[in-house]
Amino acid sequence: MSQAQKALKKTNKRGNGNSAARGAQQSRAVVKTYRNFIGGKWVASASGETFENKNPADTRDVVGRFPLSMAEDVERAIDAAANAARGWRSMPAPRRAEILFRLGEILIRRKEQYAQEMTREMGKVLKETGGDVQEAIDCTYFTAGEGRRLHGYTTPAEMPDKFAMCVRQPVGLCGLITPWNFPMAIPSWKLIPALVCGNTVVLKPAEDTPLSSFNLVEACEEASIPAGVVNLVTGYGEAGASLTNHKDVRLISFTGSTETGRIVASTCADRNAICSLEMGGKNVIVVHEDAEVDLAVEGAVWGAFGTSGQRCTASSRLVVHKKIYKQFVKKLVERARSLRVGNGADAQVEMGPVINADAVHKIMGYIEVGQREDKAKLACGGNRLTTGEHAHGYFIEPTVFTDVAPDMRIAQEEIFGPVTAVIPFDTLDEAIEIANGVRYGLSASVYTKDVNLAFHAMNEMYTGIVYINSPTIGAEVHLPFGGTKATGNGHREAGTQVLDVFSEWKSVYVDYSSKLQRAQIDSIEPQ
Ligand code: ADP
Repeated sequence: MSQAQKALKKTNKRGNGNSAARGAQQSRAVVKTYRNFIGGKWVASASGETFENKNPADTRDVVGRFPLSMAEDVERAIDAAANAARGWRSMPAPRRAEILFRLGEILIRRKEQYAQEMTREMGKVLKETGGDVQEAIDCTYFTAGEGRRLHGYTTPAEMPDKFAMCVRQPVGLCGLITPWNFPMAIPSWKLIPALVCGNTVVLKPAEDTPLSSFNLVEACEEASIPAGVVNLVTGYGEAGASLTNHKDVRLISFTGSTETGRIVASTCADRNAICSLEMGGKNVIVVHEDAEVDLAVEGAVWGAFGTSGQRCTASSRLVVHKKIYKQFVKKLVERARSLRVGNGADAQVEMGPVINADAVHKIMGYIEVGQREDKAKLACGGNRLTTGEHAHGYFIEPTVFTDVAPDMRIAQEEIFGPVTAVIPFDTLDEAIEIANGVRYGLSASVYTKDVNLAFHAMNEMYTGIVYINSPTIGAEVHLPFGGTKATGNGHREAGTQVLDVFSEWKSVYVDYSSKLQRAQIDSIEPQ
């Protein structure tokens, strides 16, 4: 089946529910139809086709209809970005940054609206969607500040009367492909550094959360980013593949599944495009015997069940010292059982739904695998919630497996749902071995009061991020974000390190000796 057919099948599957659902839809306000943003204009898809964005807490609620973009739409967006490139890269970086600061102000003003709309399209609770928008704000302010830095450096040349330096240049046209779990934060992590470095972009957000990207791009328009610099095309994998395949797109920045990332990477390799990937994780919290157990439980609950476990940094493995194991598990299970699951728009709710039917299928499949696996014990949860307030959404109970062995599938594979695996250990070095014994390397955490052990663990964890006495989630925008092994391909987002993705180094030699001086050949005698 082609991507387009799959896209339509998915649309139909989500778009036409049973008659009760249709009735509920009809009783709601008219559903808004959104457009792509290409060359400074809001336009429908070339085919005129749309797909529905639905609320995962209540699939009768259609958030909006968005353009079902295909290759032709992507092509138009790429043309617009190419046409805008010269003007944008010639604008001095401090001026570009001023526009981005204006964007930051708009995001601040609309934070509450964006958070509410994000909860409606994506499910996570309002506090978390507020955090998501805040991350976009933080990223905008921090990265826009780079407009007055974008440091290169000077260095001595090996010949007399010769000057050497290197400067950053924009890479050119950037394709940004983003997932649904951080619907505004992740697009902003890519968009803002791309812009401050002087690139033009085409953004293809996840099909499950196009509204948050629409909001971000509309704010770009309001901030007066020139036409064609930022372009938005919504759609499914077909649109992402068209972007990845296009010869004029110099760089693809992708965040999503490891499976899709691999396809993106090989396409980029074929045509020699730059490719930055952020993918899966199987993150670990190690709770040592001297840890404050209540604090560790609180961290584990937040790390494992925040965003319904749908973070690439989710705490999906809890490796707990045998001396405190029983106590930890008892408290963890009590807390997990007490979590209020429901519509994230309700301020009392602590955990929202998962994103869609495919996610339910995958997560429930892993819960079955966990139950079949030899020693593991299902300590709580394990069910899909389908009645009452949960009847029309994708809700799964917070689920804890205990007595898990490190090599079991539920301890090795990314589940991306509210499921965590508790694994007992004896010595810290054994725990570190378990922590590092997965194919991913994004985030790790250690709870201990012993500073020596904390630093030892920090040094030994082969991950891009380490936390001491807090869970595996909670990255801040001014530090590099990314991971080792199957998590990424060596690049980092955020921090100043992201500038190395969105700019290319140019080394410049200025010889003012008025003669030919041959590096490595003409010998210079010390005076
Ligand atoms: P998930 O399985 O969590 O939805 P994906 O990796 O499939 O994650 O999706 C992340 C992003 O990649 C989305 O914007 C999606 O539309 C896009 N995408 C999916 N397939 C492809 C592809 N073959 N090429 C490029 N982008 C794709």
